[in-house]
Amino acid sequence: MYYATVIRHFSAAHHLRDYAGKCERVHGHNYKVELQLKSPALDRTGMVADFVQMREELDRLLQRFDHQDLNEIKPFDALNPTAENIAKLIYEEMALKFSSRKVKIGSVTVWETESSFASYAAH
Ligand SMILES: [Zn+2]
Repeated sequence: MYYATVIRHFSAAHHLRDYAGKCERVHGHNYKVELQLKSPALDRTGMVADFVQMREELDRLLQRFDHQDLNEIKPFDALNPTAENIAKLIYEEMALKFSSRKVKIGSVTVWETESSFASYAAH
């Protein structure tokens, strides 16, 4: 299996609902997002996917969240904006862009801090 990965960043505010602790109050993170694609075979150019295209598609999605209050943006106006839920949303939207017969999303990881992060993978 081959893996191709890009890492991008965005900054946003959020707060957690139904949570007793300091994260129930509005605060911000400089989020780091890792998108990993996987494929058992390479394309004609010898790639899983073009890094440039991966960065562009991920940035397009993250622009929706950058310098926003996540709790005001769908689906996080209803769904708690945890790193886990953000990772799953990114996974599902990137799957629409990149999934093919061979290429699948391997995983998406979202860091809130250097030492706190969550990942989502379908398998
Ligand atoms: Zn937080």
